[in-house]
Amino acid sequence: MPAISARKPYRIGRSPTGLGLFATKKIKKGTRIIRYFGPMLDSKNKKHDAIDNKYLFEITNRWTIDGSVRKNIARYINHACRPNAESDVKSKKRRVYIRAIKTIHPGDEINYDYGTDYFKEFLKPIGCKCAACEKKRAKKRAEERAERVRLKLKADKRALKKAEKAKRKLEKAKAKKLKFSAAHPHARGTGKPSKTKSARTKSLLSRMPKSPALANRASST
Ligand SMILES: [Zn+2]
Repeated sequence: MPAISARKPYRIGRSPTGLGLFATKKIKKGTRIIRYFGPMLDSKNKKHDAIDNKYLFEITNRWTIDGSVRKNIARYINHACRPNAESDVKSKKRRVYIRAIKTIHPGDEINYDYGTDYFKEFLKPIGCKCAACEKKRAKKRAEERAERVRLKLKADKRALKKAEKAKRKLEKAKAKKLKFSAAHPHARGTGKPSKTKSARTKSLLSRMPKSPALANRASST
């Protein structure tokens, strides 16, 4: 990693997407933080036009900075959709500076918006990992989670209601049956007689007093 003077208000450090540039001192809003520099590429030069890397900074239709050089510390600055810095392009001088658009505190990562072209080409296909986009994704995930919980609760409530309705129906049927059997004590639920006719007659006969004549005949034999 290129050395950075201790007087500078930044250092290279680990960021969620790899390396990034972090404030080591308070940087006031409006302060020029660092220059974005590198060889100037001329679009009229065929050799220059063939150069392609992620650090090309287009100043005008004709001029582009090739920021891929090691000494260009500003190339460590990551993109953010809600940045705390911006690129200040001096097209006549063909110079680019990164300037704070908010007060940046020690430890904060410095970032600027790379612009729509870069976003569409490099960030959109893989999903922007900037804090604002991560926050948006986290919010969406939380909302989806809440929606799943809400739907589950609704389904549970519906199932409980259904079970309660079935229970009430069963209890009602039971109560009806009890009322019926109280009014008709001999009625059987099956609707079939429990004893045959002959059995019923037999038991009736056995309960009748025996005639003395019959009793005598039995003892005489
Ligand atoms: Zn983003």
